Amino acid sequence: MKIRDILAEGRPTLSFEVFPPKTQDKYESVEKAAFAIAALKPDFMSVTYGAGGGTSQYTVQIAADIKERYGVPSLAHLTCVSSTREKVHQVLEELKEKGIENILALRGDIPADGKVEKDYQYASQLINEIKQAGDFCIGAACYPEGHVESVNKTEDILHLKEKVEAGCDFVTTQMFFDNNILYNFLYRVREQGIMVPVVAGIMPVTSKSQIKRIGLMSGTELPVRFRALLDRFGDDPAAMKQAGIAYATEQIIDLIANGVNAIHVYTMNKPDVAAKLRENLSEIIR
Ligand code: FAD
Repeated sequence: MKIRDILAEGRPTLSFEVFPPKTQDKYESVEKAAFAIAALKPDFMSVTYGAGGGTSQYTVQIAADIKERYGVPSLAHLTCVSSTREKVHQVLEELKEKGIENILALRGDIPADGKVEKDYQYASQLINEIKQAGDFCIGAACYPEGHVESVNKTEDILHLKEKVEAGCDFVTTQMFFDNNILYNFLYRVREQGIMVPVVAGIMPVTSKSQIKRIGLMSGTELPVRFRALLDRFGDDPAAMKQAGIAYATEQIIDLIANGVNAIHVYTMNKPDVAAKLRENLSEIIR
């Protein structure tokens, strides 16, 4: 099933993201977590792609198994900046063989040593190629606070428009902790004529170390109310987990109350967190 058709229904949807292992010895435990999350029957699940492409087989395999064993539509991420055109097309063929219809097309981060392949510079080029390579539903990333490398938000939104014009069917946001940032972003993208569905990416923060990593990676704004939770519960893991899940639940309820119906949760491969959110939202996202 194509994700654009699920989103076109317009009802509240809940989807989950998992990430693949970096090494074969971790495959079994990651697979177990992904299956436990799939058993919660989300509207769809996404599987991220290791930055350099060296673990692409895990992304494809987990995405295929989620779909086959649990009947959950899967979305395989694919990055391009560190890959050759040959590698990208090899992965596209594997996805076709496994019947995976949905791809989140990304540039990928520039590695610390700055070494990239020459075939792709931007995600829009990848989207163009996927469009020609088969009948895929294509998603792309967007950044309510602006991408870290972008000159400003206006430029970033203009480049987002290029991705949509290249053929992407929906966009998923980077995590954010203040819904007003998303409402402002939505106003600005619609003003630019970007009318594809925007899926809101929500990260339940369940530990202090998690937020340190996020801050370093993305420069995401932390609202005062959120920082108060970290301050008060950061050193008490069980309390922090409960508070982080409650915060994400409230964020999601506010989004749905304001008409943002497509919710994607960055589960960090934690089935208990995904299950708790599902339970908290059981009457809101049926
Ligand atoms: P692009 O859309 O290509 O944009 C990158 C930068 O270039 C932006 O600043 C943009 O404004 C600018 N730009 C775009 N086009 C042009 C142009 N024509 N001229 C000048 N500037 C331009 N990373 C992974 O490695 N694996 C994953 O699975 C993964 N999943 C993700 C899922 C989501 C929902 C999100 C939000 C991010 C994900 N990432 C993942 C991270 C992503 O790869 C990085 O944020 C990366 O730095 C940018 O990718 P992009 O596809 O948004 O790039």
